Amino acid sequence: MTYWLWLAALSAVFIVFERLRPRDARQGLLRPGLATDLLYIVLNGHWLGVGLAHLTESVARALDVALAAHGASIHLRVAAAWPWWTQLVVAFVVLDFFQWSIHNLLHRVPALWELHKVHHSIQVMDFWGSMRFHFGEIVVYKSLQYVPLALLGFDHRALFVLAVVSTAMGHFNHANLRVPMGPLRYVFNGPEMHLWHHAHPSAGPGNVNFAINLALWDWLFGTAYLPGDGVAPARLGFADIESFPRDPLRQELWPLRLGATPVPAPAAPR
Ligand SMILES: [Zn+2]
Repeated sequence: MTYWLWLAALSAVFIVFERLRPRDARQGLLRPGLATDLLYIVLNGHWLGVGLAHLTESVARALDVALAAHGASIHLRVAAAWPWWTQLVVAFVVLDFFQWSIHNLLHRVPALWELHKVHHSIQVMDFWGSMRFHFGEIVVYKSLQYVPLALLGFDHRALFVLAVVSTAMGHFNHANLRVPMGPLRYVFNGPEMHLWHHAHPSAGPGNVNFAINLALWDWLFGTAYLPGDGVAPARLGFADIESFPRDPLRQELWPLRLGATPVPAPAAPR
């Protein structure tokens, strides 16, 4: 089953779940910005990660053959000897911490924040929002994740399962779902926690809940925020969201400032 079939199947499941148990029942299937998010599926990072893992795996095999031919006692693909499920668990936890750290930087480094704004331009949240990312962020993010793992010998099949699990978790975290997590909230990210990550500065504390899959890191490092069961931010987005372009092409060009609305020149001093 290819990644695209998994994506279609998971999306169908979430369309049904969001109708059965919505957090906000006023939110319809056809909501503002949906066309933008559907277009972003083409630039989907999980799919790119699977492709990069495939490409890198053959390069890593060739490098190991070359090392052996030159009499080297080390070989690159150390993880290749592990069972696939060990590879999957190690890759899941290590990558998740890596992503949590990068996500912090995306919010704290101004130039990176300009890329990440595309994802935070979501104003009505549902699972389709998990697809909306600037392509620059996707390429950097996924190359840094999947290429080193494939070089270290992680099997592309384990990395494929990881991409599908990550897609399912991304759908879940962004879904318009009411899911009381109970004690699991200290381990796994969920829709309630992630919604606060997207809160507009007028509606939430900002720079909280950087979790991708595991909320554990936020609780450990003091960036977790969950004000109460079922409490949701009144507004999503960022401070200057009104001037942010709505169509994907202009959003892609945004970090270059080609898509920005021109700032009016200041009035000349009298
Ligand atoms: Zn973010």
